[in-house]
Amino acid sequence: VYKKVDPPDVEQLGRSSWTLLHTVAATYPEVPSDHQKKEMNQFMNIFSHVYPCSWCGKDFEDYIRNNAPKVDSREELGKWLCDAHNEVNEKLGKEKFNCDLWKKRWVDGWN
Ligand code: FAD
Repeated sequence: VYKKVDPPDVEQLGRSSWTLLHTVAATYPEVPSDHQKKEMNQFMNIFSHVYPCSWCGKDFEDYIRNNAPKVDSREELGKWLCDAHNEVNEKLGKEKFNCDLWKKRWVDGWN
């Protein structure tokens, strides 16, 4: 089966982007400064505007409008992102991820 690898399709782009987003959250400070909180909020908003799959970005933008990014700590940002990702999983008919395992998956690792 022919698999397009370059340029990335919506699936590849999605996997790489979730990896980036969850890893950004995993390395976000436990106790961020006001400046870091402001920048993270801006980053999520701008990310939704520049995301190279326009309908994906639009839905993410709508999600952010109704569920403002929780930027007060790493834990909260991670959970917020997990919920945002689950919204997309649900839309695509994929299984929901157990957000209690977010830290295991993206901070500590399974092993
Ligand atoms: P992905 O959903 O890419 O997940 C990668 C890995 O993250 C999984 O293997 C799992 O270990 C982990 N994971 C899964 N769920 C969670 C969670 N809730 N929290 C934490 N970790 C989790 N595709 C479309 O077709 N239509 C869209 O409208 C669309 N919108 C998108 C919007 C955004 C902002 C992004 C980043 C991607 C979007 N995508 C969209 C892509 C889609 O979400 C998937 O990335 C793509 O379908 C590949 O899916 P996957 O099964 O490989 O796993």
